[in-house]
Amino acid sequence: MELGINETLIGTEAPLMPLMKCGHTASGKDSQGSPVCVACIGIYPGARQIDENPPSLTGRSAKCVYCGKKVTSKLSLAYFQSRINQEEDRYYCGCKGWD
Ligand SMILES: [Zn+2]
Ligand SMILES: [Zn+2]
Repeated sequence: MELGINETLIGTEAPLMPLMKCGHTASGKDSQGSPVCVACIGIYPGARQIDENPPSLTGRSAKCVYCGKKVTSKLSLAYFQSRINQEEDRYYCGCKGWD
């Protein structure tokens, strides 16, 4: 029997989550099962709204917030945050572990 595949994806390439209006990919679900950004909930109203017209990531790069490692921007990066008005997007590469 296969084990839950989602669990093996945590920390590496998360299942594709929608980009929320706060700029982050959704990182959890509310009690109704709608995607939410856990980092911004209660702080920024966009944390509960899916960005229906997300910015293009073509040619963008994302920088790890801790070590500065740069990769090509994509929504499947952990803790990805689109920052279209900035030079680089942000994500977390896993350099400090996943706890
Ligand atoms: Zn957010
Ligand atoms: Zn890093």
